[in-house]
Amino acid sequence: GVKVGVLALQGDVAEHIAAFREALAERPGSSVAPIRRAEDLADLDALAIPGGESTTISRLMGKNGLYEPVAEFEGGVFATCAGMVLSADRVDDPRVRPLSLIPMHVARNAFGRQVDSRETMLEVAGLAEPFRAVFIRAPVATEAGDGVEVLARIPEGIVAVRHGRHMAFAFHPELGGDLRLHRVFLEGLEV
Ligand code: GLN
Repeated sequence: GVKVGVLALQGDVAEHIAAFREALAERPGSSVAPIRRAEDLADLDALAIPGGESTTISRLMGKNGLYEPVAEFEGGVFATCAGMVLSADRVDDPRVRPLSLIPMHVARNAFGRQVDSRETMLEVAGLAEPFRAVFIRAPVATEAGDGVEVLARIPEGIVAVRHGRHMAFAFHPELGGDLRLHRVFLEGLEV
């Protein structure tokens, strides 16, 4: 079985839990649980960092003593939207203390103020058919460092990456019921 935790400080935690529950339904002995304390990280295989407000999640990680434990987490990280901002090593907003899990520069709210959200059929490396990507006040990576595999980009920038066992998305694979990217992530944990 696979043990997945969802960082549960702020953001779309319930959606991540539901999506991973479904993706793990056929793997006996698997579990998905919300994570609020450093102790809860022990023996997890994977951690999801949800969408939400990266400045708020950053502040709450500091307050709850979670910054170092999450930055040093040895399993795979599945980060979406605000989670992608947090997983970077450089962010365009000093209120976010990034976790440096993935060497990349991320710009918050990269679509401009007029466009709050957008849906696109996105080509993602490794998927046979396009993925319906939902962007909500989304970031983009403007630069990806060594060892970062760019899985998808749009004119504004990079919107899906893989770095070893970690994956980060500017959109929300946890919304919309398409679990192909969850499955790719879970398969990557076994390597
Ligand atoms: N704009 C948010 C941030 O930068 C992310 C939005 C989201 O997670 N849907 O924190």
